Amino acid sequence: MLDRNTIFKHHQLILYLVILLLLMITWGDYAAAAERLQQTGNPVIVVIDPGHGGDNNGTTESGFLEKEMTMATAKSMYQTLTQFQNIEVYLTHWDDVDLSLKERAVFAAEKKADFLISLHYNASESHQLFGSEVWISLFPEFHNPGYQLGTCFLREFREMGLHLRGIKTKPHSNGKDYYGIIREAAAREIPSIIVEHCHVDHASDNSFCDSVEELEAFGYADALAVAKYFGLKSDSLGLDYSGENSLPEVNAAHTVQRAMYDQTEPDLCNIEIKEVSYEECRVTLVLNARDSDSNLIDYAYSLDEGKSFSGRLPLPTGDILTGELPDTYELELSLSEGYFPSVIVKVFNPYDLSTVSNAVSFTQPFQRPIVEPEPTEEPVFEDATALLLPEEEEPTSDRISILLDYIKPVLAVVAILFLICLTGFLILHKRNHSHRGRHSRRH
Ligand SMILES: [Zn+2]
Repeated sequence: MLDRNTIFKHHQLILYLVILLLLMITWGDYAAAAERLQQTGNPVIVVIDPGHGGDNNGTTESGFLEKEMTMATAKSMYQTLTQFQNIEVYLTHWDDVDLSLKERAVFAAEKKADFLISLHYNASESHQLFGSEVWISLFPEFHNPGYQLGTCFLREFREMGLHLRGIKTKPHSNGKDYYGIIREAAAREIPSIIVEHCHVDHASDNSFCDSVEELEAFGYADALAVAKYFGLKSDSLGLDYSGENSLPEVNAAHTVQRAMYDQTEPDLCNIEIKEVSYEECRVTLVLNARDSDSNLIDYAYSLDEGKSFSGRLPLPTGDILTGELPDTYELELSLSEGYFPSVIVKVFNPYDLSTVSNAVSFTQPFQRPIVEPEPTEEPVFEDATALLLPEEEEPTSDRISILLDYIKPVLAVVAILFLICLTGFLILHKRNHSHRGRHSRRH
C-alpha cells in the first residue's frame, strides 16, 4: 500500500517526466534549421534596405560614395529577386533620402517582413581591413536565422573571390544590439542582418566595387543568397533552390558561439622555422595559433622585432563558415636581400584583436649568390666567313679593300709589262731617229 509520501513522490516524478517531454518536443523544434517559409505556402516577404541616403553619405573613402553604391546593389538585388516565385520584395527607399534606422524598421514591420536586409560597403580607419562581413543580432530568436542567412551571403561572396571576415554580433552598453537597424528590427520581431560587402579603401577589394557592373554583380549574389535561404525557384532565371537545404544547423535556444562578440585576444600564437633558404631569401614558418572563442581570419608579420608589421594577409587554410580551422598553418615569407631579420607573426580574430608570437632569428643574412659571368670559350669556326651572321651585311669599304687585295698583284704585273714595252719602244724610237738624221744629211 502506498502512503501519502510515496504518492506525492510519484506525482513529482510524473511532473518531471512531463516537463522533460515538453522540453524535448520544443527542443526538437528549436534544433531544426530555420523554417523555409516557402514550404508553408505563404509568400516570402523581404525588405531590402539600401544603407544611408540623403545627407547621410556613408563612407566616402577613396572617392567612393556609399549611399549610391548601396542603391545600385539594392536595385539589382530587387530586379533578380522579383524574378523568383512566391516572394514579395520591397526597398525601404528608392530615392536619395535619409531615413532614420527606426523608420526603416517601421517600414519593414508595415510590410510584415520575414527579413530586413541592410546593404552596406565598408572602410576602416587603418585602411588595413579587407573582405566581407555580416552583422547579426545577439538574441537567439534573431541570431539563428541571421546566422543562416549570413552564411548564404558569405558563401556567395567567397565564390566571387572575396576574403571572409565572418558573421558577428556586437552588444550595446544597454545590453541590446549595438547596431540600430538590428535593434529596431528586433524590437518589431523582425530578423535582420547588415551586409558589409567589401572594403572600398583596400586594394584587395577595390576591383569588386569600382564600377556599376560590379555593384550590380553584388546585387545578383545577394539575391541568390536570399533565394537559397528560403528555397525559392525562378522559371525565368532557370534557377531552383527548392530542393536544397544546406543551411548550417542552429539551435534556436542558443546562439552560435563563434559568432558571439569576442573581447579577448587569440589564445595561442607561436612560430618556429620549418625550412630556410638563405640563398633564395625564403623562409617557411610553422604557425600554431588558436582562438577558442571565435575564428582566426588574418595574420601579419614583422621583420624588425615587432616595430612595424606587414599588411594583413589571409590565413592560408581553414573555413570560418564551418568553424573548421587548423591549429597549425604553414606561412611562406619572401625576404629582402641583406636582411638579418628577427621574424614575429601576429594573428587576428574577426574583431581585429591580435596576439603576437615569439620571435625567431636567423644565423646569417639572406643573400642571393653573386653570379660571376662564366668564362666562355671562343667558338672555333673552320670557315672564317661563318663569323659573319647571315643577316650581317659586309660594310662597303671592306668590300673595296678585299677587291684591292686581289687586284694589286695583277696591277703590278701590268705595270712591269708596261714598263718593259715602254723601254723597248723608246730604244727603237731612238735608233730610228739617228738613222733618219744621217739619211737627210745625205740628201
Ligand atoms: Zn554603411
